[in-house]
Amino acid sequence: MPKTFNADLHCHSTFSDGTLSPAALAERAKRQGVTLWALTDHDETAGLAQAQAAASAQSLDFLTGVEISVSFANATVHIVGLGFDAQDPQLLEGLNSLRNNRGPRAQEMGRQLAAAGIPNAYEGALKYVGNPALISRTHFARYLVDAGICKDTYEVFRHYLVEGKPGYAPQRWASLQDAVRWICGAQGVAVIAHPARYGFTANEEYAFFSSFKTYGGQAVEAVTGSHAPHEYLRYANLAQEFGLSLSRGSDFHSPQESKMDLGSLPSDPTGYAYIADLLAPRIQRAPAQAA
Ligand code: AMP
Ligand code: MN
Ligand code: MN
Ligand code: MN
Repeated sequence: MPKTFNADLHCHSTFSDGTLSPAALAERAKRQGVTLWALTDHDETAGLAQAQAAASAQSLDFLTGVEISVSFANATVHIVGLGFDAQDPQLLEGLNSLRNNRGPRAQEMGRQLAAAGIPNAYEGALKYVGNPALISRTHFARYLVDAGICKDTYEVFRHYLVEGKPGYAPQRWASLQDAVRWICGAQGVAVIAHPARYGFTANEEYAFFSSFKTYGGQAVEAVTGSHAPHEYLRYANLAQEFGLSLSRGSDFHSPQESKMDLGSLPSDPTGYAYIADLLAPRIQRAPAQAA
C-alpha cells in the first residue's frame, strides 16, 4: 500500500487537448506523488493503452478513463467514465460518433473567426492538434494566443469561442442517458465532471443530478482543478444528498496553462463515500515494488 493515498482521476493528453503524451503524464503523476491515476481524454480512448503501459512502468495504480461531451438542458456538460472495458463496442461506437462531428464544427469556427477578422484560424488550430479527430476549442485558443490575439487561453474564453462571441459553433453532443449507458454498459462508473462550471440554476442542477442518478450515474467530482476551493464542500454535500460517491481530479491539460498540477489537489473536505472503494475491483494494480 502506498504511504499516502493520492488519487488523480481526470487529466488530458495529446490524444485530446492536453500537451503531454500519456507516458509524460504518467511520469509527471508519479513525480507529483499520485498513487491512483486515470487518463480521461475528451471523447477518446486511443491513449489508454500507452497510459496503462506507462502507469505500470511507473508503479502507478491505473484506471481506464474518458470525458464524454454531453448536451443537457441547452448546455454542454461533461461526464467522466472510469474503470470501464476499453474494448467495449458500444462505448467505442458512441465516442466515434462524437468525434465525427468535430471536424465540420471546427471548420465552422474557422469561418466565423474569419468573418470577425481573424483569418486562417482553422489551419492555425490544426497545427496544435495531436489527434486530428479531436480538434477542440482548446487548439483554437492556443492558436489565438500564439498569434498574439489574446494574452492567454483564459482571455480567449472570455472573448471568443463561447456562446455569443465570435468562433462559437453550437454542437449537439451525446444525450446524458446515452453517455451514462455507454459507460455503465462497459462496466465502468459514470461521474459528473466539475458541476460548478455549468452555470445551472438550482432547478436545472437538481434536474441534472436527478437524471444522472436515474440513468445509473454513481459519482461527482467535488475536489477538482476546475472548481474554486469554496465549491468543494458545496458539491460534496450535493453528492451526498443524491447518494453519489465523490471523485477527484486535477483536470490537468498543460504545464503552461493549467493552474492545478497533477497530484496537487487538497484532500477531500468530508469523510463521504469515495469512488475508489467503488472502483477497487477495476483498478489495474501496479506490480509490487521493493521497499
Ligand atoms: P470542446 O470540447 O472543443 O468544446 O473544448 C472544450 C475544452 O475547452 C475544455 O475541455 C477546456 O479544456 C477548454 N475550455 C472550455 N471552456 C473554457 C474556459 N472557459 N476556460 C478555459 N478553458 C476552457
Ligand atoms: Mn479540455
Ligand atoms: Mn471538462
Ligand atoms: Mn477535462
